[in-house]
Amino acid sequence: MLVDSHCHLNFPELAGRVDEALALMRENQVTHALCISVTLQEFPQVRALAERYPHIYASVGVHPDYADVPVVTEQELVALADHPKVVAVGETGLDYYRIKGGAGWQRERFRTHIRAARRCGKPLVIHMRDAAQDTLRIMREEGAPEIGGVMHCFTGSWEEAQAAIELGFWISFSGIVTFKNAAALREVARQVPLERMLIETDSPYLAPVPHRGKTNEPGLVRYVAEEIARLRDLSLEQVASATSDNFFKLFRIDGARTDSMA
Ligand SMILES: [Zn+2]
Ligand SMILES: [Zn+2]
Repeated sequence: MLVDSHCHLNFPELAGRVDEALALMRENQVTHALCISVTLQEFPQVRALAERYPHIYASVGVHPDYADVPVVTEQELVALADHPKVVAVGETGLDYYRIKGGAGWQRERFRTHIRAARRCGKPLVIHMRDAAQDTLRIMREEGAPEIGGVMHCFTGSWEEAQAAIELGFWISFSGIVTFKNAAALREVARQVPLERMLIETDSPYLAPVPHRGKTNEPGLVRYVAEEIARLRDLSLEQVASATSDNFFKLFRIDGARTDSMA
């Protein structure tokens, strides 16, 4: 059993072919997926997917790359998170790659999400790109360890991974670990303790080798698990069961419910 801890099934590349994506999940034994919100405008689509399919879950949040969207408040996030299928707050965080050097509004938005997550008791999905120092600092300042969460699509160093783990966070690896030029990240994936690791697709982006460059989808998370298994000298089953257990634990989902693929 495999789980995709981060996908965007409602994005245009996938929205028109959700049934095919679900079929590939079944074929590859990917039993659950967490569909991630990036703006409050598209959140109703994300929630609708989670309401329609028992094994799809949702998060609520506004991604740090979206500059031209209304300011989100703690109250709004807490209200929208009050739903049985909304299991996380995010994706949120800091991206100094897209928004060069970051911006005050990005850091404020991140703080708002951490406060909302603490208030509603749901873990954070954190996007951190070229911004490790500020991300970890704000996590500490806002008490993020109290609620925990996941550093999604992790591409940082081992030191950064360790710092996040010390704050009570999980590290999630995407298809990037299969990329030829990702030797440094593979080293990190060798070191992160299995009990702190998640896997994801971030689909429709970042399709793993041998599908690189094509549209990614949750079923392809299997290739991420296979690469981790190879790197750690473990079986696919060991990586699959550890990362799935971690997912259920972090997002407090009853993974034993075998009706999940109904
Ligand atoms: Zn992201
Ligand atoms: Zn994402």
